Amino acid sequence: MLIILKKGADEKEVARLLENIKQSGYTYARANEGGADMIELEGAPSYFQLDFFRSFAPVKKVVTSFEYREKVYRAGGKKDTSVTVKGRRIGGGNIELIAGPCSVESYEQTERIAEKLSKMGIRFFRGGAYKPRTSPYSFQGLNENGLKILSRIAKKYDMVIVTELLDVRNIDAVCEHADIIQIGTRNANNYALLKEVGKLKKPVLLKRGISSTIKEFLLSAEYIMCQGNSEVILCERGIRTFESEAYRTSLDITAVSVVKEVSHLPIIVDPSHSAGAWNLVERLSLASIAAGADGIMVEVHDRPQEALSDAGQSLKPEKLKPLIKKAAEVAECFGKTFMCSAAAGGRKENPSEKRRKIKSKKD
Ligand code: PEP
Ligand code: MN
Repeated sequence: MLIILKKGADEKEVARLLENIKQSGYTYARANEGGADMIELEGAPSYFQLDFFRSFAPVKKVVTSFEYREKVYRAGGKKDTSVTVKGRRIGGGNIELIAGPCSVESYEQTERIAEKLSKMGIRFFRGGAYKPRTSPYSFQGLNENGLKILSRIAKKYDMVIVTELLDVRNIDAVCEHADIIQIGTRNANNYALLKEVGKLKKPVLLKRGISSTIKEFLLSAEYIMCQGNSEVILCERGIRTFESEAYRTSLDITAVSVVKEVSHLPIIVDPSHSAGAWNLVERLSLASIAAGADGIMVEVHDRPQEALSDAGQSLKPEKLKPLIKKAAEVAECFGKTFMCSAAAGGRKENPSEKRRKIKSKKD
């Protein structure tokens, strides 16, 4: 536990605090890290004990050493970071919409959906080529052929591609075709895989493990960041709770707000996998934006009845229109911009978006 001291704290007051720490039976060491004066306590003081120490005049704040030292945390007030891919930024006041089918099923299916999404001004396209299915007999994805389809889509519609990496053996293939590498909920605690993507120079979209606490989720991100890759986008996608009938997993909206408080990383929400039902997606998306999410990832299929995976949660493209309009309004309430031209009726165009459009017209 670290007691961070205020700058220029009165040494007499600090001595009084140290005396109290000693009398309470804790060993401590005085330290200075990155210009901050602090006292490091050994052991795990109780909540009430920490509150007592917090009440001393020289104390700025009391934090765990994790919170202070790990890259994922705000460590001494670090400002929000954002991730920019192909000139498009997630975080920093921008709310992005990532949409696309659960699985890449064929070129025709992917192209049909991408065309509709692109027309709505959606700039991030998702689609799984390697599918982590509960049953080994279910459709497992088109694998490398699926990746090649995604590359063609990226070129044709100038979209950013998000796709899942399941296995470290496919890392080169996924890197060749993806702009953002997704690590799914099942691999959120696969530390060997996290370390490998930590060595890449590509953004990683890290989903929360289905039974990860917030701390475990953030430490999974730390596995990536400690290898040198700081371009991590967190994704809340629901956790397993006692509710198992009415919906698929419980979307932990509170976690979104908590993560925004303690971490500087952007966090998006996947309401589709959380709910498992298309009709819940709009409301959960709006709630996520209100809770502080920097983006939404939604599964879309133009013929959900034919979808080879996650048919029940796939929104038809036209159902996105009212979602986008309302999302833009909620974003505006929080001083943020929903980055989708179909939302333009609900908000004023962001100046950086305008500049990008003018530039791409010139190009
Ligand atoms: C997905 O996004 O395609 C997916 C499988 O999600 P999750 O890992 O959250 O289940
Ligand atoms: Mn899916």
